[in-house]
Amino acid sequence: MRQKRYFLTEQEIPAQWYNIQADMPNKPLPMRNPQTGEVLKQEELYPLFAKELVKQEYNQTDAWIDIPEKVREYYTYYRSTPLVRAYGLEEALGTPAHIYFKNESVSPVGSHKLNSALAQAYFCKEEGVTNVTTETGAGQWGTAMAYAAKLFGMESAVYQVKITFEQKPYRKNMMQIFGAQVTPSPSMSTRAGKDILTQFPNHNGSLGTAISEAVELARMTPNCKYTLGSTLNFVSLHQTVIGLEAEKQMEMAGEYPDYVIACFGGGSNFSGLAFPFMRHVFDGTHKDTVFLAAEPTSCPKLTKGIFTYDYGDEAGYTPLIPMYTLGHDFRPSNIHAGGLRYHGAGSVVSQLAKDGYMKGVDINQLESFEAAMTFANSEGIVPAPESAHAIATAIRVANECKKTGEKKVILFNLSGHGMIDMPSYQQYLSGSLQNAHISSDEVRKNVEAMGDLTKRK
Ligand SMILES: *Cc1c(COP(=O)(O)O)cnc(C)c1O
Repeated sequence: MRQKRYFLTEQEIPAQWYNIQADMPNKPLPMRNPQTGEVLKQEELYPLFAKELVKQEYNQTDAWIDIPEKVREYYTYYRSTPLVRAYGLEEALGTPAHIYFKNESVSPVGSHKLNSALAQAYFCKEEGVTNVTTETGAGQWGTAMAYAAKLFGMESAVYQVKITFEQKPYRKNMMQIFGAQVTPSPSMSTRAGKDILTQFPNHNGSLGTAISEAVELARMTPNCKYTLGSTLNFVSLHQTVIGLEAEKQMEMAGEYPDYVIACFGGGSNFSGLAFPFMRHVFDGTHKDTVFLAAEPTSCPKLTKGIFTYDYGDEAGYTPLIPMYTLGHDFRPSNIHAGGLRYHGAGSVVSQLAKDGYMKGVDINQLESFEAAMTFANSEGIVPAPESAHAIATAIRVANECKKTGEKKVILFNLSGHGMIDMPSYQQYLSGSLQNAHISSDEVRKNVEAMGDLTKRK
């Protein structure tokens, strides 16, 4: 009998997260203060984030960081998540490749986001915080944060990108079930939102804009911290529980991946799966593993973006982050993979991409949905439109193996399920979805127009 799913026992669930910064040959460049252009000190972030999270953000020496007992306890409610050998997909493709996926869609909220939401809520609570704010694109992060805040007895307020607030009304309801106050962004409730709406009355919203609003609200509210679903080092750190589990599960399957693939919004699920495997590139035990980050053709920061200092948000409230970016004022087309519509990549992944340890792959919207259909019909799971980009990339590699006859081992992350993304599937099925594209020239012009932000003031 062939085994399809691999699980870990409760004892085998990781007790520590992996901090890749400690092992990186070239450390990421430091963040900078947006007013002075000077290197940002840890203390400058304390008003915004829980202190322990800021320490994790800056930690470049400890490769292993203990998962607090309470967080690990909540992890055991849904972890380990299964590692699945995708026999069905392999057969549908007729490929000699072995395809595995790590199924993060089984978390209570339907995506990997809970892995970091629980940790962020824990560290906020430890510090005596009573309220948290955040932004959300597709609604996955907002849902995870709303639930985590509820578990730790805190209030949550979420700014949801307007286009998904309208396209995916059920996400809003999920956040409301967990007691969150949900506002479509841009809104009139903050100065950042007002400024943007005055200039662009029909603005559809973007993650950059929603971040500005959530940061502003956190600053105005006493005893309140801001939380973030992606991009920052501490978020990637928390997500490494995915790859650490996958490493043990692949061992149970008796294989090691030649390809590690995940979709890419700001980099958290990619980092989570990839970093534990990448440490074996650094230590020389598995030098040839290929790491692919799948992004939408319409929001191609890794494949077409420019490496420079840029803001994490539209209004320029956040520190300057060294990143591959499309420009903080970039307004992505209204594609359905809302979680991937972010203008930049985190500083660690940006450095790793710059140093050639990982590569971006761009997937257009129709190819992602075709892959989602193939996957749904062979594995029975309707994937999140974001995850479909990883599936499409895995399928490309598997089809290449079909041509060459190579039995490569492919591992991808199923970051979430698409059960609340039916409006997107409905549009795909009715034939009204389209591809969107932006040229390297347009990207370059947009980024050059910003000038050198570190020398602005
Ligand atoms: C948020 C999200 C993403 C993209 O964010 P990353 O930080 O790049 O992981 C991908 N898939 C799902 C299901 C998401 O919710």
